[in-house]
Amino acid sequence: MVQYTQSPLMGQMMDQPLLISSIIQHADRYFGQNEIVSRRVEGDIHRYTYRDCHKRSKQLANALAGLGVKMGDRVGTIAWNGYRHLEAYYAISGSGAVLHTINPRLHPDQIAYIANHAEDQVMLFDLTFLPAVEIFAEHCKTIKAFVLMCDRDRMPAETKIPNLLCYEELIAANSSELDWPLFDENSASSLCYTSGTTGNPKGALYSHRSTVLHSYASAMPDSLNVSARDTVLPVVPMFHVNAWGLPYSVPLTGAKLVFPGPAMDGKSIYELFESEQVTFSAGVPTVWLGLLNYVAQHNLKFSSFKRTVIGGSACPPAMMKAFRQQHGVEVVHAWGMTEMSPLGTAGTLQTKHLALSDEAQTAILEKQGHAIFGVDMKIVDDANKELPWDGKTYGNLLVRGPWIIKSYFKNEGGDVLVDGWFPTGDVATIDPDGYMQITDRSKDVIKSGGEWIGTIDLENIAMAHPAVLQAACIGVFHPKWDERPLLLVVVKTGAEVSKEALLQFYEGKIAKWWTPDDIAFIDALPIGATGKILKNKLREQFKDHVLPTA
Ligand code: ADP
Repeated sequence: MVQYTQSPLMGQMMDQPLLISSIIQHADRYFGQNEIVSRRVEGDIHRYTYRDCHKRSKQLANALAGLGVKMGDRVGTIAWNGYRHLEAYYAISGSGAVLHTINPRLHPDQIAYIANHAEDQVMLFDLTFLPAVEIFAEHCKTIKAFVLMCDRDRMPAETKIPNLLCYEELIAANSSELDWPLFDENSASSLCYTSGTTGNPKGALYSHRSTVLHSYASAMPDSLNVSARDTVLPVVPMFHVNAWGLPYSVPLTGAKLVFPGPAMDGKSIYELFESEQVTFSAGVPTVWLGLLNYVAQHNLKFSSFKRTVIGGSACPPAMMKAFRQQHGVEVVHAWGMTEMSPLGTAGTLQTKHLALSDEAQTAILEKQGHAIFGVDMKIVDDANKELPWDGKTYGNLLVRGPWIIKSYFKNEGGDVLVDGWFPTGDVATIDPDGYMQITDRSKDVIKSGGEWIGTIDLENIAMAHPAVLQAACIGVFHPKWDERPLLLVVVKTGAEVSKEALLQFYEGKIAKWWTPDDIAFIDALPIGATGKILKNKLREQFKDHVLPTA
């Protein structure tokens, strides 16, 4: 607990709690006519306004109250990025209940585990997930009602799901008369589980205060830079860390919102970018790979796209280059995690950098960026001693701030803080100007003869080779050095590169002893529920790989 000193003179400002409902109220009152456009699961394009969204959120809030949902109760959602999901965001949190977004790409057993752990009372889900919900519904002990987010005519004639209700019927049956309740801004607002690549998933429980502060901070020009002149298409799913807060930061600014629904392939995203004149988007590198490939194959250009935020895993410099040089799209490299709501850093330049060469500017932009106000960070050694900010020394990255967890939901994992700081599990450098660069996740770092080799650098170099589509680097057993790097490569369709040529490509780009000992060409990399490469799967798959140097 932080100990406060009491001042003899308190400020005399209004006591207005920071509540999520105030965001949609603001969007309705000041940007009521601005549009929200969604590609629906049904395949068509749906359009309405912030005013409509607010109205229907209140109808849904009344419906949930009718189903017995009370303050503090958890309500699950399994849904794509779309207007109904946005209504659920505001209806659930706005009424003081807790929005629990669930990643549909998880295994049904894991979904049931999460829903039971969260003790969800109601679950809302999109049509796509009807077959999955049929499988796990009976294992969800606390759920009193399931709500299928569709029109009446799409409801299944028969189902095993107990108490299955129709979303549109609920909306139609409820009034939009509602004054959003006022309560303590520290009340829980939403719950996101980490993807649980190690152990069971653990919940990060955000508050209204943390969410509103995160929304302010993430909209700022040197963070995501969202304004009323933007048209924003969040590619990052609303079931993964609240789409990096965009469902809050975009309505807060009044920008037009465009939701891609389930169609996340390059063609569908590109068409929506063009038809809705999207200016800004955000997503993980694997999704952008699909879009860039589609655009390159069909020799297309973007007519309105200006800026994208890339994070979730390291943005390969080759991807940043393609966006910037071939398409004139500015890339903001951002870093964060579920436990951080998620935004921690974003990479933008300062006035003093503007006179630098393009190469020097690029080197800065390729880093994960600068702490945004509200987030404080430091790097430490294994004895928790703070390390210098020289851009070279790497150590364990720790963070603190008002939108960073102090413990997991239900205190899972016990005390997680170290002297009041949250250990991120990432290894990083920080340069004298405060730009942070992730070398690796500590569990992915390769320990070669007592020294560390960061895999992100090795992957980035491989991906700069014109024949390489994707690359991942893992440590495999070596009798002399404990571990040495093995590079796994997916080659672009129609392209060719030999092992020797690719190894040669590393020459002069890194310390010689960092060069991978071997390369294996594979058809595809295993991708997890949040679009990240599953290195634990690769380590398992290649655990018996014998290196030529062994
Ligand atoms: P999970 O922890 O469940 O995999 P998160 O989305 O919270 O899901 O992942 C956070 C982690 O993702 C960070 O700790 C970091 O390792 C990685 N990450 C996020 N953004 C970046 C980035 N820009 N560069 C490198 N790694 C990143």
